[in-house]
Amino acid sequence: MSTSVPRTATVTDRLVEANRAYAARFTDPGMGARPVLRVAVVACMDARLDLHAALGLELGDCHTIRNAGGVVTDDTIRSLTISQRALGTRSVALIHHTGCGLQTLTEDFRHELELEVGQRPAWAVEAFRDVDQDVRQSMQRVRTSPFLPHTDDVRGFVFDVTTGLLREIAPNS
Ligand SMILES: [Zn+2]
Repeated sequence: MSTSVPRTATVTDRLVEANRAYAARFTDPGMGARPVLRVAVVACMDARLDLHAALGLELGDCHTIRNAGGVVTDDTIRSLTISQRALGTRSVALIHHTGCGLQTLTEDFRHELELEVGQRPAWAVEAFRDVDQDVRQSMQRVRTSPFLPHTDDVRGFVFDVTTGLLREIAPNS
């Protein structure tokens, strides 16, 4: 018999506990994997942005692709490509936000990492100063991707974390 070692509960233990309660109330919605609204939302991972609540989304409505900054990297394109080509989405919404942590960083972050760990990361930090400009660049990256068949409906926004309101960014013509 193994003896269990007592340990302090971690935050993940709390998540697992919450999941038991969730599952107890859960009923199989019988959904397919294809998003009902045929939209993929690319957004920052910021904890203050509750995408489903902010956009009136329900379970099964959309794909959500989140990373630091909500930036369009090769991996974002990878997810969007699978979203469109294998799972039928047609529209893309890009959401950055006010007060983003990436506005406080620069590419020096990579050099500092290299000094600390002796290896420079292969990825760019994708830091930005001007959030509007970064939304425009993100829209441009999606629109010009050769892998995405559906680029007619690509729109970009900045979410204000103090008002909860989206502000749309006009693309570069
Ligand atoms: Zn952010």
